[in-house]
Amino acid sequence: MAAAPSIQAVFCDVGGPIYDDENFVAAVLRAADELRAADGLGPVDRPRFRSIYDGVRAEQGGVSLRASIAREFLGSESRKRELHDLTRDYWAHPAGTLYADVMPFFSALAGRVKIGILANQEESVIRSLERDGLAPYIDVWGVSAVVGFEKPSPELFTWALRAAGVAASEAVHIGNRLDTDVRPAAALGLSTVWVLRGEAPTSPTAAQLAEPDIAVWTLDGLADRIFTELPAARTASAVAS
Ligand SMILES: [Mg+2]
Repeated sequence: MAAAPSIQAVFCDVGGPIYDDENFVAAVLRAADELRAADGLGPVDRPRFRSIYDGVRAEQGGVSLRASIAREFLGSESRKRELHDLTRDYWAHPAGTLYADVMPFFSALAGRVKIGILANQEESVIRSLERDGLAPYIDVWGVSAVVGFEKPSPELFTWALRAAGVAASEAVHIGNRLDTDVRPAAALGLSTVWVLRGEAPTSPTAAQLAEPDIAVWTLDGLADRIFTELPAARTASAVAS
């Protein structure tokens, strides 16, 4: 019998686990307001936007925020690409938007595992992580705009595994969405942690909470849990792919 795998690499999403997803929301709103202004319309109705955003957060799959915003506020879902492109121009992670539990978490992992970023982000996120002192901890830079693959496509995950030199069973992915983080990572055989903030639902269902190996509200204490609880025993179907 082969030795049981142990966790050798920790991959981390950025929006939600590391930086506040409100940075993304602010960029989407700024872009949508600007496109509406060009059409002679007033700014996006904030309460209506929040209601749509909360619906997307609750769903965790199948509903695109930018498609919904384009349909609701720009008159047609076909303007999703336009909204997407302008959002990219405004998307940044300003100083002060790093969650306070990230640095203690990364320092608790340092020297024990490879640490990787695995995120759908612009290249500028690298400078944000440098500014906030996290770059020295990061061994693998799986930034979609740099690598050329986006979650949930398996290519970004397999790229990160290869870059870290570990098998899927020796890696854990930490993210705050089921559709682009937990499900694609689990399908490849990685362990999964679901961080319940930002784009995660305010009130996750029992069925949603059953999907990741670990679900947490903060990163406090997570390093110890990764080493003691993962990789979790899986059913045959969970590692089928
Ligand atoms: Mg995220």
